[in-house]
Amino acid sequence: MSEFVSSFMAELKEKNPAQPEFHQAVQEVVESLELVLDRHPEYRAAKILERIVEPERVVIFRIPWMDDQGEIHVNRGFRVEMNSAIGPYKGGLRFHPTVTLGMLKFLAFEQVFKNSLTTLPMGGGKGGSDFDPKGKSDNEVMHFCQSFMNELFRHLGPNTDIPAGDIGVGGREIGFLFGQYKRLRNEFTGVLTGKGLSWGGSLIRPEATGYGAVYFAAEMLATRNESLKGKTCLVSGSGNVAQFTTEKINQLGGKVVTLSDSVGYIYDPEGVDDDKLAWVINLKNVRRGRIKEYTEKFSGATYTPVEPNLNYNPLWDHKADCAFPSATQNEINGKDASNLLRNGVYVVSEGANMPTVPKGVTKFIDAGILYGPGKAANAGGVAVSGLEMSQNSLRLSWTREEVDSHLQGIMKAIHKASFEAAEKYGTPGNYVNGANIAGFLKVANTMMDQGLV
Ligand code: NAP
Repeated sequence: MSEFVSSFMAELKEKNPAQPEFHQAVQEVVESLELVLDRHPEYRAAKILERIVEPERVVIFRIPWMDDQGEIHVNRGFRVEMNSAIGPYKGGLRFHPTVTLGMLKFLAFEQVFKNSLTTLPMGGGKGGSDFDPKGKSDNEVMHFCQSFMNELFRHLGPNTDIPAGDIGVGGREIGFLFGQYKRLRNEFTGVLTGKGLSWGGSLIRPEATGYGAVYFAAEMLATRNESLKGKTCLVSGSGNVAQFTTEKINQLGGKVVTLSDSVGYIYDPEGVDDDKLAWVINLKNVRRGRIKEYTEKFSGATYTPVEPNLNYNPLWDHKADCAFPSATQNEINGKDASNLLRNGVYVVSEGANMPTVPKGVTKFIDAGILYGPGKAANAGGVAVSGLEMSQNSLRLSWTREEVDSHLQGIMKAIHKASFEAAEKYGTPGNYVNGANIAGFLKVANTMMDQGLV
C-alpha cells in the first residue's frame, strides 16, 4: 500500500470507527484513484477525495411498530445521502438484520460511482433498516413500512432523493412504502422506483440488475470474441438479482448449475432451465420458502447446508466457466477465489455489491480473468430506475423492447467507459480501476464546477 493510501485510510478509519465495509469500499477506490490524482493535482488541491467520502447528510431514526400479537418492536432506520453533484440522491433500501450505518455508507459510497457510470443524472444514496422481513406476515411488513415512511418521507422527493429496493425490499415493500408516502404528501410522484406497473413502474425494472450483469459479462467475453453460449455458470442467491441473472443466461444459451440462500445452496448439473426457474421464483417470491425444497422437487440436484465452521463456500468449488455472485457482500473470500480459478472460471460478473473480498479481487486481477466489479456489472438496476424516473416525468410508459434496448446500450457504455479508462491510466483489462476512475471523473469534475459545497 502506498504512503498516500495508508495515511488517507488511517485518517478515515479514525474518523469512522467500526465501519469495516465502508473502509473496504473506500480503500479499493482510493487505490484506483491514486493513478488519477497523480495526473490531476487540482483534485488534490480541491480535496475532492476528502469530500467524496463524507456523506452530504445522514438521517438515523426510530421505527416503532406493532406485530400481529400486539407486541411492540423498535427498529432503527437510516438514509445516507452521499453525493448529489450530478443528480438527486438515488439508491436502494435494504431491510436485513445485519444493516448498520457502516454497511449503508459502503453501499451509498459505491452507488455514487455506479450511478455516475450509468450515463444518467443521478447522485448516490442508500438506506434501510435492521428489520428482518423473513417470517413476518404481510400485515406486519406493511405496518413496518408505514412506520419507516412516517419519518423518511420528509427527506424524499422526486428531485431530492428517490429510493428503490435492495435486499429484503422488493415489489411488496415498495408498494407499502409508496402508499404511505402518497398519503402523507397528498401527491402522486415518482418518488420510489421499482413500483408496480399499474402505478408508475417500468417494464424490465425487476429484471434489470440480473440482465445487466449478464450483458456486462457478454461485453467482457466479446473482447475475446467469445459469448455465453455453452458456458456453465455458478450463480449465488435466489432473490431478485439471481433470478433474472439465471433467466438471461438461459436466453443466451448458458447453463446455471447453482443457486443459494442464506442457509444453503443447490447444485443441479442438468441446469436450472426456464421451468425450474419459474418454480424457484414462485418458491422465493410467493411462498417465501427455502432453496432446499428444490432438491425435493427436482431429482438429480443436491443440497448443501451452510457449514459455519468451513473457511470457504463450496458453491464456488464446482467446474464452471463463469460466476455471478448475486447474494451479498464478501461472499467470495480468498480461498473461494482460488477455488474458482482452479475450477476454470475465467468470467466473474458481480450482481451483488462488493461480493469479493480484497484478497479475492487481487487474485482475479493477477490471474488476468474477465472480472467485472459490482459497481459496473450491477449498474443495470439503477439505470432502469433512472429510466423509470424519466418515464414518470414524461407520464409515459415505454415498451419492454424500448427499455431493454436502453439497458443494453447503457451496459455497453459502462463497459466501454471502464475498459477505456483502465487502458488510459495504464492498467489495461483492469475493470476495477476502470470503473472507479470513469465513475469518479464525472463526479469530480462536476464538484469542481459547483464550487465548495
Ligand atoms: P433479495 O431479492 O433480497 O435476495 C438476496 C438473496 O441473497 C437471497 O437469496 C438471500 O437469501 C441471499 N442472502 C442475503 N443475505 C445473505 C447472507 N448474509 N448470506 C448468504 N446469502 C444471503 O436481494 P437482491 O435484490 O437480489 O440483492 C442481492 C445483491 O444484489 C445485494 O448485494 C444487492 O445489494 C445487490 N444489488 C441489487 C440490486 C437490485 O436491483 N435489487 C441492484 C444492484 C445490486 P435469504 O432468502 O435466505 O435471505
